Amino acid sequence: MLKIVFKHSHLIDLKIISQTIQYRSWLNREGYHYYLFGTNVIKKINYKKITSDVKKEFEKYKIKLEKKVTVSKYYKIYLTKYGTYGSYDLPDKVYVNVFRTPKQIAETIVHEIVHLEFEDEVKRKKLTHDQKERLIDEKVAEILE
Ligand SMILES: [Zn+2]
Repeated sequence: MLKIVFKHSHLIDLKIISQTIQYRSWLNREGYHYYLFGTNVIKKINYKKITSDVKKEFEKYKIKLEKKVTVSKYYKIYLTKYGTYGSYDLPDKVYVNVFRTPKQIAETIVHEIVHLEFEDEVKRKKLTHDQKERLIDEKVAEILE
C-alpha cells in the first residue's frame, strides 16, 4: 500500500532555495514559475491545515495511483514556501509549494510520485526533459481523469 507522510522542514526549505537559485536561468528559460524571496517569505502558513486539506484531495487519486505504480515505499511530502510548484528527489522525496489550492497541490504530488516511479524508464530510454514530462503527464492524466 502507498504510504505518504507530510512534513515541513527549514533545512529542506534551504535546500529548495539553493537549488532554485542554482537552476534559476534554466527555470526562467523553460518558463517555470517559482518562489524565492518575495512576499511568500513573510506569509504565515498553517501547515497542519494544508496537510489535512491536501490529504483529503489526495485520497481521491490514491487507488488509481496505486494501480499505476507498484509501490511499497514511504513517500515524504515536504510542504514549502519556496521553489517551483513541485519537484522530487530519488527514491522517495517530493517537494510541493503551498501557494496553490489543495486540489492543485494533490495533483502535483501525484505527478511527482509518478516521476519517482518512472525515473528508471526515463533513464533507460534516454528521454529529453520535454519527452520525460510528456510521458509523466500521460500517465498522470489517466490517474486524474
Ligand atoms: Zn514533471
